[in-house]
Amino acid sequence: MIKFKACPKCRGDIYVAQDMFGRYLNCLQCGYLKDIPEEPVARPRRTGGMVVEEVQEVERAAA
Ligand SMILES: [Zn+2]
Repeated sequence: MIKFKACPKCRGDIYVAQDMFGRYLNCLQCGYLKDIPEEPVARPRRTGGMVVEEVQEVERAAA
């Protein structure tokens, strides 16, 4: 996907690229690079649940 004349530095054409870390903008004319922040929906929330499970097991062992 290319955004024409979207570069803030040279008004060149910007190419939306993607790698294992996420998406980023890359200017074809001057090499300008800018990361695109990930959408909040994509973030996993499993860490909090695992902490709760560990606490419950400790209480069970003490009783
Ligand atoms: Zn540029």
